[in-house]
Amino acid sequence: MSKLTPAMSQYYQFKKEYSDSIIFFRMGDFYETFDNDAKVVSKELDITLTNRGKSKYGEKMPLAGIPYHSLDNYLPRLIKKGYKVAICEQLEDPKKSKGVVKRGVVRVVTPGTAIDSSMFETPSNNYLMSIVGEKSEFGLSFLDISTGEFLTTQFKDNPPYDRVANEIARMNPSECIMSPTIQDNAELYSRINSFSLLVNTLDEKYFDLSLAEKSLKDHFGVNTLEGMGCSNLVYSISASGATIQYVEATQKRSLSHINSLRIYSESEFMTLDAITLRNLEVVSNVRGSGKDSTILGVLDETMTPMGSRMLKKWLSKPLIVTSEINQRLDSVENLVQNTLVRYDIRAYLSKVRDIERLTARIVYGNSNARDLVALKRSLENIPHIDILLKELDSDIFLKLREQISNFKEVEYLINLIDKAIVDEPPLSVREGGLINIGYNKELDDIRTMSKSGKEWIASFQKKERERTGIKSLKVGYNKVFGYYIEITKANSSNVPDDYIIKQTMSNSERFYTPELKKWEETIISADEKINTLEYEIFSSINQEIANYAEDLQHTSITISKIDIFSTFAEIAVNKGYTRPLISNNFSITIKDGRHPVVEHNVLDDFVPNDTEIDCFKNQFSLITGPNMAGKSTYMRQVALIVIMAQVGSFVPASYASIGIVDRVFTRVGAFDDLASGQSTFMVEMVELANILNNASERSLILLDEIGRGTSTYDGYSIAKAVVEYIHNKNKVGVRSLFATHYHQLTDLENNLERVKNYHIAVKEDGEKLVFLRKIVPGSTDKSYGIQVARLAGVPRKVTQRAKEILYNIEKEDYLVEKKKSNFKRLAKNEHKQLIFAVEQENNEKNDIHSTIFKELSEININELTPLDALNKLNNIQKKIKDQSE
Ligand code: ADP
Repeated sequence: MSKLTPAMSQYYQFKKEYSDSIIFFRMGDFYETFDNDAKVVSKELDITLTNRGKSKYGEKMPLAGIPYHSLDNYLPRLIKKGYKVAICEQLEDPKKSKGVVKRGVVRVVTPGTAIDSSMFETPSNNYLMSIVGEKSEFGLSFLDISTGEFLTTQFKDNPPYDRVANEIARMNPSECIMSPTIQDNAELYSRINSFSLLVNTLDEKYFDLSLAEKSLKDHFGVNTLEGMGCSNLVYSISASGATIQYVEATQKRSLSHINSLRIYSESEFMTLDAITLRNLEVVSNVRGSGKDSTILGVLDETMTPMGSRMLKKWLSKPLIVTSEINQRLDSVENLVQNTLVRYDIRAYLSKVRDIERLTARIVYGNSNARDLVALKRSLENIPHIDILLKELDSDIFLKLREQISNFKEVEYLINLIDKAIVDEPPLSVREGGLINIGYNKELDDIRTMSKSGKEWIASFQKKERERTGIKSLKVGYNKVFGYYIEITKANSSNVPDDYIIKQTMSNSERFYTPELKKWEETIISADEKINTLEYEIFSSINQEIANYAEDLQHTSITISKIDIFSTFAEIAVNKGYTRPLISNNFSITIKDGRHPVVEHNVLDDFVPNDTEIDCFKNQFSLITGPNMAGKSTYMRQVALIVIMAQVGSFVPASYASIGIVDRVFTRVGAFDDLASGQSTFMVEMVELANILNNASERSLILLDEIGRGTSTYDGYSIAKAVVEYIHNKNKVGVRSLFATHYHQLTDLENNLERVKNYHIAVKEDGEKLVFLRKIVPGSTDKSYGIQVARLAGVPRKVTQRAKEILYNIEKEDYLVEKKKSNFKRLAKNEHKQLIFAVEQENNEKNDIHSTIFKELSEININELTPLDALNKLNNIQKKIKDQSE
């Protein structure tokens, strides 16, 4: 092994300790990366890879560095790509250090623990997930360090894959820590890894129950976890305790903004599993992660980032308790009716910034003066909003007002920031210019000193020009050489004797005088003192604000709710939504329902439709109609209206009455899940199995065709069996909508009492097909597939030929059917004779058998000559032959 420089041996020590992270090793004005890290960084960040010195293996050491001030620019790019970065700082001034500079890792930045504003392009939450458990019992926790939100749940499920996948889909964490037991569960491990998130398996000790419990108690400063309601939830404690230890180990600083752990359980909310959330495009598109054609996209007209975050959570967790939903609806209605209040509230909200994340950065010690000003400008709106809330009387608004008035120190904080921090502070907090004049006497005195020094220097230039007669004489400053007098070489002969040479340039020379030197020292030391003092003042104000973190977090939640209600109201008015009636009965009645996203795209052309389903007479709507008629749109619109209603939003319909739904199941579209190695048909059947096994009488099922990935007869048989099963499964049937091309299924209406046929009407206009988009009772018997293919631009030659083929098949089918029915008739009429004939035949057979049997058993073999034997055999054979003819 080759001999390393002291700095490099220091580097390798850190690399050993943080082997799973890229080390950003501070060297002067750069963060350097070495070895393999350098190769990765150079490739991912597209920066030059160079070589310097030798690695410990004696080869040239690859090196890639970034200037320290560009950290905010480069770091997020690496983190977003799923890397962990350990920031290794110089812990002492290199000028003052003897030997190698002392360094230390001050923080490990990971995808799930990012807090800097530059890391977030959207206001969405950024969760770190933790999972522990074995067999069928598991604990999960989710922490958003950028907001302080900390949640946990524990559940039993065997196998647990779907449940875990659902939680991941809903929370969308960017990083997951897990116990080795999870990694050992190959199926679970691969399901978690199929999401795009950084997965770390930590040492078992992180999840050790007593250690985990201790770390939670220490973090929250409590003696028992009972107050949080999780003292019995051992897996929740283990997962959450591991999270706290992991975050403390990587962040190495105050985490006091994480001040509560909330336990949630699935039974509090409507269940929307990963598949349904995706299929219905509730919060993200089926393809990609955007929100363009989602309900979130339609509803997210929130004014604040934390409102937007909360809306996303609400949409993926609709409520199931009528009174809670009605309380939300009351609040929306308050604001629908009170236009002026709504306008004003939204105008104030538009000036509120991300209080939740600002607070987290302040507590975390990562804020700058601009954050404080942003907080001040946000808080300034709260008293105005408070006054406006007086006009609203829903239960929720009364509570929200109370919470706002409980936070009495708002004015104090506004004043504190206002007095101390300038209105437009610089980004850096260490280079002065942050603190207002008049805020601190000592600072003002030093500033005066610096100012008079600078004034002296300005007058010095004038004085020296006059004294020397050199008009071009300039007094300048640079960081390395300080203040100087610059004289061009042409004027060298006029340089006075008391000038001392400092630096020679190509066209000029630079000098100083003892007096200039004295003032320079005064100014520089004053400026240094100013910077230090301003930073100290800033830090103390930051700390003072951090003391109100909890109040600020509550305020943020309050503001988010007001934001959502005002948004729901605004949208209800602008888009003509109505308040749904919510009840515990089992019916869903919708008049003039619209699909919230599709209506947006087709504007005035959207055709509203009615819906009437319940668990009794109208349990199962079997919907037929050609492709493109609007079957999927219709079914989804029903589910989306239910979801929106249970979230507390008004809905796109002229009337809606919703009997609570506990879970929406969907089996729609066909996606090959290539990543998990499942074929389309397999995916479809897995989804179907989940529905059939888990739907309760309160659920809503949407089936958009079943069995398309197999042969027609297979598919049809499965589809028919499914309808029968769902129809008969529970005492009261599960509300279901099923769109299908198997027209034969519509016969089921005659046999199953709760099945109702519907179709989406179309009109044939010569060769053309006109989509009427209206759902009407009864079935169709045509698919119009060839017309739709023509509409899609399939060449006429192909569609013509398809028509011929179809005609022939239908003709053949007709003949076959005819033959079959003839046969059936024959069979029916002659059934009895046939049975009689068969029985007769059997009896005759039995007679022969017994005769032969008797003959054989009576033969005395000892007396039988070979000739007799042959004759007997011949006889027997003859009898058999006669009988079979
Ligand atoms: P299907 O499931 O029957 O093949 P879709 O539901 O996918 O049909 O609808 C096809 C297209 O028809 C949609 O993308 C939409 O543009 C339009 N559409 C559907 N329903 C309506 C409606 N009620 N009013 C207007 N346009 C509609």
